[in-house]
Formats: sequence, C-alpha cells, structure tokens
Amino acid sequence: MKIESKCLHAGYTPKNGDPGVMPIVQSTTYVFDSCDHVAELFDMPTECMYSRFANPTCDAVEKKIAALEGGVGAMLTSSGQAASLLSILNVCSAGDSFVSTGTIYGGTVNLFAVTLKKLGIECIWVDEEASAEEISKAFKPNTKAMFGETIANPALKVCDIEKFAKIAHAHNVPLIIDNTFATPFLCRPFEWGADIIVHSTTKYMDGHAVQGGGVIVDSGNFDWTSSDKFTDFTTPDESYHGVVYTESFGKAAYIIKARMQLMRDFGCYPSAHSAFLLNLGLETLAVRMPRYCENALAMAKFFKKSDKIASVSYPGLEGDSNYTLAQKYLPNGTSGVVSISIKGGRDAAVRFMDALKLARDEVHVADIRTCVLHPASATHRQLTDEQLVACGIDGGMVRFSCGIENIEDIMADAQLGLDAI
Ligand SMILES: *Cc1c(COP(=O)(O)O)cnc(C)c1O
Repeated sequence: MKIESKCLHAGYTPKNGDPGVMPIVQSTTYVFDSCDHVAELFDMPTECMYSRFANPTCDAVEKKIAALEGGVGAMLTSSGQAASLLSILNVCSAGDSFVSTGTIYGGTVNLFAVTLKKLGIECIWVDEEASAEEISKAFKPNTKAMFGETIANPALKVCDIEKFAKIAHAHNVPLIIDNTFATPFLCRPFEWGADIIVHSTTKYMDGHAVQGGGVIVDSGNFDWTSSDKFTDFTTPDESYHGVVYTESFGKAAYIIKARMQLMRDFGCYPSAHSAFLLNLGLETLAVRMPRYCENALAMAKFFKKSDKIASVSYPGLEGDSNYTLAQKYLPNGTSGVVSISIKGGRDAAVRFMDALKLARDEVHVADIRTCVLHPASATHRQLTDEQLVACGIDGGMVRFSCGIENIEDIMADAQLGLDAI
C-alpha cells in the first residue's frame, strides 16, 4: 500500500463480523486459561497481558505508525518527551554518553542537558553544519547514540540525515531522529539510514490538539552485535529471567527491550482512548500534510513581500538557507511552520500578535488551526534581549504555525497583524 492507504488501513484488519473501526479496548487486564499460558507470555510476550505496557488499541496504532515509517515495530508513549527519554535510556546507562545536534526542540535540550545529566548520562553537543571529521571528534568510547531532528522546532533547520547516519555508523552507534515536524508523510528517515525514530504525536500526527502522546519506531536495521557496546542487548537480562534480546527477538530487539524493560518499569503508556484519538488523526494525515505545507509556503512568500518583516525562515522557500537540504529530504513540503522576525523587535511583535483574530495565541504548534507563539514573551520569557540573540531568537520573532483553513483567511488575518505594527 502507498502511504495514503496505510494511513487508513495499516494496523487493524477487521475479520468477518468485527467492528469496522478499530475498537477502544478500555481494559487494564486480560484473562488467560492457564498458568502455563501466562508463564509463556512472560517468556515471549506475544499477546497483551497488562495495560501498563501493552493494549490492543495501542497495539493497532503502533503497527500503523511502524508501517508508515517502514519500521519493524513501534511503541507508543504518553508524550513526545517520554519517547525521547526512553529512546536514549534504551541504549545509555549512567557513565555513557551520546551525541546530539544543538538545533533540536527546547524541551529535548532540557531533558538532555539537565535531567539526563543528573542520571549520569552525558549529552555531547555538536554543530550539525560542521564537517563529518569535526563531528566525529565528539565521539568517545562510551558514546552509544547520535540524535537529530528532521526539521528542528523552532529553528526550522533541516537535518542532513544521511551524513549523520554515516557518522553514527562509523562509530557503531544508532542514529535516532525526531521526525515530529516532518511526519512519515514528508520524510521517512529510515530510508536515509536512521535507525530509530521518535515523534511527539501531539503535533501533526494527532493534528487536532486533543491528546498528547509520543512514539518510538525501530527500523530493525541496526546490528547490536556488531561491537561490544550494547551488552544489554547481547547478554542475559537478569531482570527478565535471562532473556538475550538479540537472540530472542532478532531485528525487533530494540523495540521489544524498550517495552519489556523500560515501559514495564516507567509505565508511561497511553490509554486506549488516547490511542483511538491518535488513530483518527493518523487516518487523515496524508490529506492534511500537503495542505499545511501549501498554506505555509504561501504565507512564507506573503511575509517575504512585507517591508515590516526583517526575515522569514521556511525551509521550503527558495533562497532559504535550508532550501537545498529540504529539496533532498522533504521534496513534498516542509510542514506548516514558518518563523518570521518582525522589524521593531518585541513591541512590534506583540502588536502583530495581539491584532490577530483567526490565528490563536497558543503554547502549541502543528495544530489543525493556525496558531502563533511569541518565544520572547512565552517560552523564552526569562531571557533578556541580549540572551535571546545568543540563542538565535530575537524579540521580534513569531512562530507562525499554519493550519488548514482557507489561505485567504489566514492571509487576511496576518494582514491585520501587519497593519497594527
Ligand atoms: C513538542 C515536541 C516534543 C515534545 O513532545 P510532547 O508531546 O510535548 O511531550 C518533542 N520534539 C518535538 C520536535 C516537538 O515539537
């Protein structure tokens, strides 16, 4: 099936007399005939046994997302943050390190720089524009993974996934890619060599702003036995009566280990109802994504023409510094998010924002409805103007996240904002 059809049909195939729509299995427990059967499930968890780490509705959505990304398996989490956290904890323990580009989502920066550090895991930051030789110097013997984001939120930088994959593989570590903004409709990182994908499904995948969630997807391509770095995969897990993940689960070793160890212990699993809502969003993903992209490109061109705007960032806009990479990795569009910098700084940006009627001022992005955020007075509020400049944000910056409304309405609204400056 092509991706448009997978959005509707992957993951759940009703049999004779089954419900046509994937049902919500709102049960924490499952009933078994015998102790032997339950014992077998503990050896080889092929069926759902407890909803802290597996549920039939969630399972169907996991299979759909794995199919969309082209992976061997997926695991839902209760947020995008939980997906990023578990993706690293599945390969790194205290005393290990991993390499990440700094141009990633701010919440992930906090997780990596502050919270993982407290757990004894070091994040080594690299400049993603540096040469492969330069980036390679960051790797240490204890480095266990490399991390990047397809389209960075909010910097809107496009990751050179192929380059990253080559560097990671030369050091025998997997490449983990946060594919939230692109979604598998616009980019499938496994096709460029990434090994693991994470998403905040809260954004385009859900699309409707009705539930938060995340997912980890395993390509099945990374060979955990190729070096002595991943002994947790290749030697018996004492917490699971001696299972050796690579031997028992082959290509799905990573994603099954994540469920059997990490989801078992952390329990950040979504409810069946959340998974059901996520599935509704996924069913229309392939219809929505082109529309977001089309609207955003039109808005990028609209803003580019205004003499009240100092700069426009949109990787799909010809002349953008990320245009060449975007043409390679995102030929069908670069999502709905445009970043603009308004002349006159903070005050002008606030006047622009407050005059908007259709576009909502929200701490959200990638919604079905157009929404805007002013980083200087919201997410980066504590910083002075000088500090803002240091982290690439100026007081005039507005993150403009296009929804799927009629473009003329979005433009008319933006014009109200520009007129108010
Ligand atoms: C929002 C976001 C996250 C975090 O996801 P939550 O669902 O809010 O926990 C991670 N990565 C990216 C790129 C995001 O935009």
